[in-house]
Amino acid sequence: RVKKKWAATLPKISSSKRALQNFDVNYSTQFGESWPIIRASLLSEQKYGALVNNFSLGTTDLQGASDFIYEGVMKTLDTNNRDNQVSNVHPTQAAGMSESVNSASEMEAVMLSFGISPNIKCFTFPKGDISRFKPARQDSFGILEYYLLDAASVLPVLALDVRPGNVVLDLCAAPGGKTLALLQTQACWKLAVNDSSVSRTDRLKRVLQSYLPREHYIKENIRITSFDGRKWGDLESRTFDRVLVDVPCTTDRHSLLEDENNIFAKHRAKEREMLPILQMQLLLAGIQATKQGGEVVYSTCTLSQFQNECVVEQAIQIAEEELGRKIQIVDLSLIAQLFRNTFYFAQDVKLGELVVPQLSANFGPMYFCKMRCLN
Ligand code: SAM
Repeated sequence: RVKKKWAATLPKISSSKRALQNFDVNYSTQFGESWPIIRASLLSEQKYGALVNNFSLGTTDLQGASDFIYEGVMKTLDTNNRDNQVSNVHPTQAAGMSESVNSASEMEAVMLSFGISPNIKCFTFPKGDISRFKPARQDSFGILEYYLLDAASVLPVLALDVRPGNVVLDLCAAPGGKTLALLQTQACWKLAVNDSSVSRTDRLKRVLQSYLPREHYIKENIRITSFDGRKWGDLESRTFDRVLVDVPCTTDRHSLLEDENNIFAKHRAKEREMLPILQMQLLLAGIQATKQGGEVVYSTCTLSQFQNECVVEQAIQIAEEELGRKIQIVDLSLIAQLFRNTFYFAQDVKLGELVVPQLSANFGPMYFCKMRCLN
């Protein structure tokens, strides 16, 4: 008998097709009957947000779009007014401040009371409106007016809630969308920006040069490095007030739509298998780098519970048992409540929040979870 040569006879499948097969198996179990609509959304054109660059002097032309952050806060205040009570909103936030918000400074105070930076502005087109943003223009100094990104990418930065004077670490930062959002807060006293990939760090530097005036970019409060983030805990332990750990993941949307640089490529099977371990080590390093009382946000752009909640659970267990750190999960349901008109948040996520793509609000996936280091 002649053995069949499987390798030669089996049709080759593309990396994006392999990604879809993998998601169909895993996510139909994870999401049940919701999976077909999430699948269709992932395969459709995603929506963008325009992160306004406060360092640009240009007059941003974003007609037809509105700042989802400002709108979310205003709508919640209106609801508070009508209902005079909002579940999940802290009573000090719900009471008293909803009647009239007239001036910019009053609005700023309201946003701060929600733990939302008043300086981050991100415009989106309304639900169901699939208009696209024009490419950003330069102001007279050559600084770009806005940065286009998945609007859900701003949520982990909002969740980090950087306060004036904070020393901040962005551990996996390239190409720099979230770094730019962190800088918009104008609250970082010192910002360490890191990405292990030298080429991606170069791209990040180019992004920052296009969005920050030179005097700001060269100010010593921004430090850009290309270290392996897993070593950060040993390099600078208990140093930072806020740490963002935006890890490499299966980047679900990219993996379904692009064959180039796809983690589902056959030769990257081992790398893909090891992702949750790398993610866990990065989060652990982020926790080690955080001061007592400091906060860490872990984020990904995958729907996978193995790369999201499971990684967080495991990192906390190791941090507590092996590093003697005490970690508290910080409730982020207020963020989900404030921005529920823009994004669709999954219901049954235990530790963090997950933005799930929907055809009428095609943002995400974006998972984010916040931890406080109690000792
Ligand atoms: N935060 C970025 C943004 O908002 O533009 C996106 C970060 S991307 C999801 C993950 C990044 O992690 C990649 O740029 C990758 O080069 C970087 N990375 C992978 N392994 C790393 C490691 N061991 N240490 C630090 N960065 C790493």
